Parts: sequence; C-alpha cells; structure tokens
Amino acid sequence: RYQSLAYNRVLEIHKQHLSPVLTAYFSEPLLLHQGYMEWLFDYEGNRYLDFFSGIVTVSVGHCHPKVNAVAQKQLGRLWHTSAVFFHPPIHEYAEKLSALLPEPLKVIFLMNSGSEANDLAMLMARAHSNNTDIISFRGAYHGCSPYTLGLTNVGFYKMELPSGMGCQSTMCPDVFRGPWGGSHCRDSPVQTIRKCSCAPDCCQAKDQYIEQFKDTLNTSVAKSIAGFFAEPIQGVNGVVQYPKGFLKEAFELVREWGGVCIADEVQTGFGRLGSHFWGFQTHGVLPDIVTMAKGIGNGFPMAAVVTTPEIAKSLAKCLLHFNTFGGNPMACAIGSSVLEVIKEENLQENSQEVGTYMLLKFAKLRDEFEIVGDVRGKGLMIGIEMVKDKTSRQPLPREEVNQIHQDCKRMGLLIGRGGTFSQTFRIAPSMCITKPEVDFAVEVFRSALIQHMESQDK
Ligand code: PMP
Repeated sequence: RYQSLAYNRVLEIHKQHLSPVLTAYFSEPLLLHQGYMEWLFDYEGNRYLDFFSGIVTVSVGHCHPKVNAVAQKQLGRLWHTSAVFFHPPIHEYAEKLSALLPEPLKVIFLMNSGSEANDLAMLMARAHSNNTDIISFRGAYHGCSPYTLGLTNVGFYKMELPSGMGCQSTMCPDVFRGPWGGSHCRDSPVQTIRKCSCAPDCCQAKDQYIEQFKDTLNTSVAKSIAGFFAEPIQGVNGVVQYPKGFLKEAFELVREWGGVCIADEVQTGFGRLGSHFWGFQTHGVLPDIVTMAKGIGNGFPMAAVVTTPEIAKSLAKCLLHFNTFGGNPMACAIGSSVLEVIKEENLQENSQEVGTYMLLKFAKLRDEFEIVGDVRGKGLMIGIEMVKDKTSRQPLPREEVNQIHQDCKRMGLLIGRGGTFSQTFRIAPSMCITKPEVDFAVEVFRSALIQHMESQDK
C-alpha cells in the first residue's frame, strides 16, 4: 500500500517539478525499484527483461558485481580531483582505452556526456580545419546541447528557433525508407524487402546516395567544410543502416573538401555490433575523431573524444580547455572495469552470437506479419520497423505501435522506440543476454503482434 501511494506521489512530483518535455514511454509510467544484469524490477516486484538497457547504455548489465565492487572501492579512496591534480586510475584508463583504438587515434579527452563529447568534436573539427560547415545525416542524433542540436536532425528534438550555425543536413542513405531500395546492400544478416536493381554484391543504391552527398557539398556549403558526423548505425532514427561502401566514399569526399570525419560511437561502440569493437570498423573506415558515451560507463556518466595528436593540438588555439568532472576518478575506475568485463566475459562475441540469433528470429516475424516491414541491425543493435503494409511502407499509426509496445511491457519485456514517426522498435539489451532470454522476448513480441491483429479484426 505504501508503495502504491509512493507511485502516485512520484507522478505528482514529476508533473510539478520535472521537465515537461521529459515524457515517459508508457501511459502508466514504469516506476523502477532495482536492476540486476539484464533484469529490472518495479516497485510492485514485477520483473522485466530489459531489452533497451537504459537507451543502449547499460552495456555489461545493471549493477554488475565487478563494476559495483570497483566503484565501491574507488568511492572509499578518492571521488574527485580536478584535472590539475593527477590520480593513477585516470591514466590507467586512458592507456587502456587508447589501446583499443587504431593508430593514430591515441589522444583522449574525457567528458561527461555524449552531447558534450560531440560539442568538443565540433570545436576540434573547426579549429583544425579553419572551416565552419559541418554535415550530418537527416535522422541523425548527436545531442541536445545548443551546439549539437544543429547536427541532430530528428524532428522531435527540433525547436522553432535557430540552432547550429553552419550545420548542414544531407540525405540519410536509408535502404528501407529511402528512394532507391537496396536489397543486399547493408551489413546485416537480414536484408530489406526493398528490391533494387543491383546484383547481389554491387551497390547501385549506394551510388545514388553518394550523388546526393555530392549534391549537398556542391550546393549547401562554401568551398570547404570543417567535418562530417556519422553514427555507424543510426540509433535514435530506428537502427538505420547505410549501404555497404557508402561511408568509405563519403569520408573520401569529406577529406577532399578539407574536412575531418567524425564517428559518433555513442550507441555502436564497445563491442555492441559484435563483429568489431567499434562501429566504424564495420565500414572499413578510419575516422579522424571518435566520440563515445553511454555504454562506456555502463550507466555511470562519462564520455570521451579520441583523436589524433595533430587534431588534438588544434585546441591549443586557446590556452586551456577545461572540464571539472571530465575524467573524474570514479568514472575512470568504472570505465576500466567495464573494459575488463567486456573482455573477461567475451561480451563482444556474445553480441555477435546472440545478436545474430535474435535478428534471424525476428526476421521470421517479418515473413509472418504484414505489419513488420523491416528487421535490421547488427549484433545487439536491432530495429523492427512497423508499417501499415509492406507495399506502401507507410508507418503503422502511432497508437497501434503504442499498444504493441504497452503489451510487451505488460508481458515483461521492455523495448525501445525510434524513427521519424516513432514507428520502429529498438532492441539493444545489455551484452550479457542469453539465447533463452531472446526466445522469451521473441515470443512476447509475437504474442503482442497476434493481439494487435485480433484487435484489428474486431
Ligand atoms: N550521440 C548519439 C548517437 C546518441 O544516441 C546520443 C544520446 N541518445 C548522444 C550522442 C548524446 O548523448 P547524451 O545523451 O549522453 O548527451
């Protein structure tokens, strides 16, 4: 009884004192009490399989025992020094993280959030190139700070205010929703139902999208640019993948135009994509700047920008670039233990194996249900795009997607949402999940789809 009073009180406080644009997923918001590994428990003791891991953030599991033990030890040792005093866990972390990146990406700036990391990456790109214009994809999400809002091209986040001076958007090469289709064109065990005229290994769709990219360069910017931001797979936009080879050609063009290439690994990094530790590696490209956050700290606020010594030096245009909490001892100790857990528990391999198993299972639902338009992704980053029907590819109306989402929650499965019309379910659990849990999740999702069909027949 006490607990349900607390629930109403929480809703009241949320309404009165918290941001009015911080909306909960469900009409009856979930009030969480506790989490352990891939599970969450609400205030009534109901158990949920967390297949969205705090928006792709809890990389190795809620309250992972090893990460918790390291955090507790550091808590009793030293919480904070500002960057002007040194403390070995910070340096140990910098060494460990840089070892995971290819040459010449070896200089690390520690930050507190993805937006902050992308803010800094924008500043670096401009300082290094002496140019202003930065390009990002439509559908991209790179942050909500006034600076990064210019790069974020997801309608929900835009305001009727000028944002991001010098930021230009370009067409997202989306092989499912874009104009040219692209079966066989994306790096996923599951291809789109959209046919394109390519033979299995060629990529005409990619060429069409590259023409669009060139068009942006020729028409929207002056002679040169500062940089180009890309997520290896778009997260917020609903796990959107580009045709194979697109990023490689786009990076070459960006460099010809004087800009640097920035990979936003906030969602795709740290082994989530399975085949590689970093998403950019899956495209066979080498960025000049890499930004990372979310999974880096398993839910503890931390982020990083990694770049080359040469680009890092461009910040010397000012005397000091300072961040009070960036690289604090707690974050670094936690970050180190997250890297150790990923290695010790073979979580990247688990992403590859269990992720592929899950993708193929969800793909069978696409064959079974007309409203499942696309199943895509890589490793443990999966999108299921809901449509009215496969021929029109019109997004399934929001209320219907809401109902399926709500039904999954009722049956103990938490998944995410994304896409311009909120039409795509996003699945990105902690990397410790198992095949039996995937079987459970797929069955729950299937039941929710059957319930949806039955409700439409009435
Ligand atoms: N980049 C990407 C790809 C993201 O998904 C996000 C967060 N959704 C950010 C940047 C911003 O990160 P943060 O919320 O930590 O500022």
